[in-house]
Amino acid sequence: MNHPAAGLPAPDGTLDPDDWTALRAQGHRMLDDMFDYLASLRERPVWQPAPEAVRHGFREPLPHQPAGLEQAHARFMREILPYAVGNAHPGFMGWVHGGGTAVGMLAETLAAGLNANLGGRNQIPLEVERQIARWMRELFGFPESASGVFVTGTSMANLIGVLVARTATLGPTVRREGVASRQSRLTAYTSSCAHGCIAQAMDIAGLGADALRRIPVDRDFRMDPRALRAAIAADRRAGFTPFLIAGTAGTVDVGAVDPLDTLASIAAEEGLWFHVDGAFGALAMLSPELAPLLHGIERADSIAFDFHKWGQVPYDAGFILVRDGELHRQTFAADVAYLSRETRGLAADSPWPCDFGPDLSRGFRALKTWFTLKVYGADRLGAVIARTCEIARHLARRVQTEPALELLAPVALNIVCFRFRAADAQTSDRLNAAIAIALQESGIAAPSTTRVNGALAIRAAIVNHRSGVADVDRLCDAVIETGARLAATGHAQWATRSISDNPLRDALDPAIRQSCFP
Ligand SMILES: *Cc1c(COP(=O)(O)O)cnc(C)c1O
Repeated sequence: MNHPAAGLPAPDGTLDPDDWTALRAQGHRMLDDMFDYLASLRERPVWQPAPEAVRHGFREPLPHQPAGLEQAHARFMREILPYAVGNAHPGFMGWVHGGGTAVGMLAETLAAGLNANLGGRNQIPLEVERQIARWMRELFGFPESASGVFVTGTSMANLIGVLVARTATLGPTVRREGVASRQSRLTAYTSSCAHGCIAQAMDIAGLGADALRRIPVDRDFRMDPRALRAAIAADRRAGFTPFLIAGTAGTVDVGAVDPLDTLASIAAEEGLWFHVDGAFGALAMLSPELAPLLHGIERADSIAFDFHKWGQVPYDAGFILVRDGELHRQTFAADVAYLSRETRGLAADSPWPCDFGPDLSRGFRALKTWFTLKVYGADRLGAVIARTCEIARHLARRVQTEPALELLAPVALNIVCFRFRAADAQTSDRLNAAIAIALQESGIAAPSTTRVNGALAIRAAIVNHRSGVADVDRLCDAVIETGARLAATGHAQWATRSISDNPLRDALDPAIRQSCFP
């Protein structure tokens, strides 16, 4: 009989390989390719658009016959790996993306091999997740009775925060009765710079996005406490039931931190739930020099954050921590026969993570997080976080010394918003949008854009542990060069230029250029 290719299933009807030795060798090659990828990131463009032929290749019909692991791996190397977003690359500064680590990758591989389902039951993987919850209680000064579970990301964690706050206000019976049965409408408060997922959480929770009041911010983009008090009072007079203040530790646009301690006091005086969206910012607690900026976070009723951003854990690894663990459980736990609990056997060791959120089947996100914290230690991760802020300050200083550039927001943490100066506001928006695209397509650096006080800003978020001073200097140089060249050509061409006449084309290393501009 012919030896099937590595990974092809054995004739016994299972999906295990016929030849473990061949699979093992192939597996080592796959792992080696990923080590090579991570070790040589700098030799690649940050990002490159996928050719249409590659995109088209993923529209094939359902494959009915086996193709072999080597072939699938070769296709991955050729057509998937080169066309990812590039957030592992040190030149990636768009949105808020973590860089990941080789350690996290290995841990994720172990987790996949174990194939543990962390919904519940009597198993040590759950103890690993509980260990992370204990560490997070310690980090944020939360009591023993606080609960914590992994979720996909902060969008889901914020939704859970809103739902537990809803239970706190209306009682667990709201789960059966629904909010429509209540006379008075619940209202929540967040800053005008809060992430859109908080409004979405209000929507999904059945409270309506309109019931989220957007409180104005001060010059540093922090929620204005006086405006907050006024909005709560106005809603009470109008017959609404204020129930939640959602502060932000690290806004997505500029990295501002709301005055958390003041918000905690207002929530306490008003009897409202105090939730903190600390998607990336909350882990600044790991850095002794940054932690004081988050003063007051320890008074929150719930904190949502991501290990996959500043924590450098591979995607995805969001987390929700709730001070009143019992209330958290009452928001989600359900009594169904097939999930009944025992004191011994596999159904022991209750409560389970499925009692604290909408997910029943769940992966072992805790393992890659546990490995990351164990292998690097909290202090080292905190130092990486502090270093990203230093690099952001370096970029801000450079922007301020370059006559062609203008800083658009103060740099509180790791995000720098700036622009290339132009004659007028409208030209500026179009020019800076074109610069950001040219940079992304050049493969040199990948910033994103946002609006600051209405103006389009080039936004660099330094999240990746691999990003250094040289990377932000390269970004800065590239913005100046592209800005000057584009400005010299005039509007009409900005949108219509193709990638092949990208003004940064000649600035690239020849090897990278070949891969970016084939
Ligand atoms: C990234 C981010 C979110 C969303 O988190 P996900 O993990 O992408 O779901 C929410 N709030 C802020 C401030 C963020 O930066």
